[in-house]
Amino acid sequence: MTDHEMLIVGGGNAGISLVAKLLRDGQQDVGLVESESVHRYRPLLNYVGAGQASMASLERPTDKVVPDGCTWIQERVVAVDPDGPSVLTAEGRFGCSTLVLCPGLEEHWDATPGLADAYAAGWAGSTFVVETAPLVWPALRALSTGRVLFTVPPEPAPCGATALKPLFMACDHWRRTGVLQDLDVRLVLPRQTPLGVPQADDELERTLASYGVQVMREAEVTALADRRVTVATSSGEQAIDDVAFAHVVPHYRAPRWIAESGLAGATAAGLVDVDPLTLRHRRHPAIWALGDVADLATRPSGGALRKQVVVLAHNLTTDDEKFFQHYDGYTVMPITVARHRLMLVEVDRDGHQVPSVPFPDLVRPRRATWAVDRYALPITYFRRILRGKV
Ligand SMILES: Cc1cc2nc3c(=O)[nH]c(=O)nc-3n(C[C@H](O)[C@H](O)[C@H](O)COP(=O)(O)OP(=O)(O)OC[C@H]3O[C@@H](n4cnc5c(N)ncnc54)[C@H](O)[C@@H]3O)c2cc1C
Repeated sequence: MTDHEMLIVGGGNAGISLVAKLLRDGQQDVGLVESESVHRYRPLLNYVGAGQASMASLERPTDKVVPDGCTWIQERVVAVDPDGPSVLTAEGRFGCSTLVLCPGLEEHWDATPGLADAYAAGWAGSTFVVETAPLVWPALRALSTGRVLFTVPPEPAPCGATALKPLFMACDHWRRTGVLQDLDVRLVLPRQTPLGVPQADDELERTLASYGVQVMREAEVTALADRRVTVATSSGEQAIDDVAFAHVVPHYRAPRWIAESGLAGATAAGLVDVDPLTLRHRRHPAIWALGDVADLATRPSGGALRKQVVVLAHNLTTDDEKFFQHYDGYTVMPITVARHRLMLVEVDRDGHQVPSVPFPDLVRPRRATWAVDRYALPITYFRRILRGKV
């Protein structure tokens, strides 16, 4: 068995940022288990789905983003022994004194029968699934008549509210090209309002009405077959036929080995059972989690990681619990309401707005905020966030 002082599972936004911060803070002997050879800045996927970014612009070889000074173990974890703690991969077992889990969420294809087949057939797809993201814009741009359906996924999902981005950017395109009135655009929302944040919802409801989008509320897609999408609402199931394109985002869950290793809590999605304030596992003190896979009682996002990484890096190197820092549940929802205008919604665990700057009001859609999201943040991500500098 190979041992490390600290072992981090998952080299996505959470894992790479944390490793970089720990190394900057002087930590030695950090191992990172990450199976994939390509790292992605996933927020740009929504801009790929609007023809504003290429896949190449959001991808980097993993070896270019793994911080110098840590040991990259290119393996897939299949089980955890919480008492070691240690992780098991196809190549063997890796032990450690401290284990941090951040393997993200995975698509729960079985939750939506027919979705994988509809993706394969090409009449459904989404920006959230890497393989279909490049197909979304050609499919949407080609529409000039017919029915098109979008969804926002239920929680937990990786910044699920941003599934509104491809909808609004496509509507803006269709309005500019004069075909919007010939399209029947539908949106399936998991809750009563788009975000559950009153000020932002008012703006988004006005936007939906201005584009003529028909909204199904407290609803979810339950099946897809032969260009028919079945939607369950509080008043029963409804079949929507002749769908030209369905931008249906899959449901998500934690990787199964989390629950199989006895690390999940009570959530149906099997998220890691951590104290949402300290990020430490409730039953196994040597195990911690952050990012999308952790049950932090807030909506997962990359923006949330900026706070989580700082709190966790501090707590991992602090012996006395009295001095632990607490994560307040801060998270973000950046939504484009048009091709070049974006609102940024920042909330805490209770859904109260917690703007990072007092002025201007970032919930008001602006071109400058879109430019930051589309152009400045990707640069900040690769140059600073992944290097543990934010
Ligand atoms: C389409 C889309 C748009 C988004 N837009 C935004 C946005 O605008 N703003 C925002 O703040 N957030 C956004 N997000 C959310 C953001 O990308 C995630 O919250 C963030 O990536 C979570 O980071 P993570 O490290 O927890 O998980 P991930 O990024 O999923 O990384 C997990 C890593 O773990 C690895 N892994 C998984 N299983 C194993 C295993 N068994 N063994 C070893 N390695 C494993 C994976 O290969 C992966 O590299 C978006 C996400 C998507 C999909």
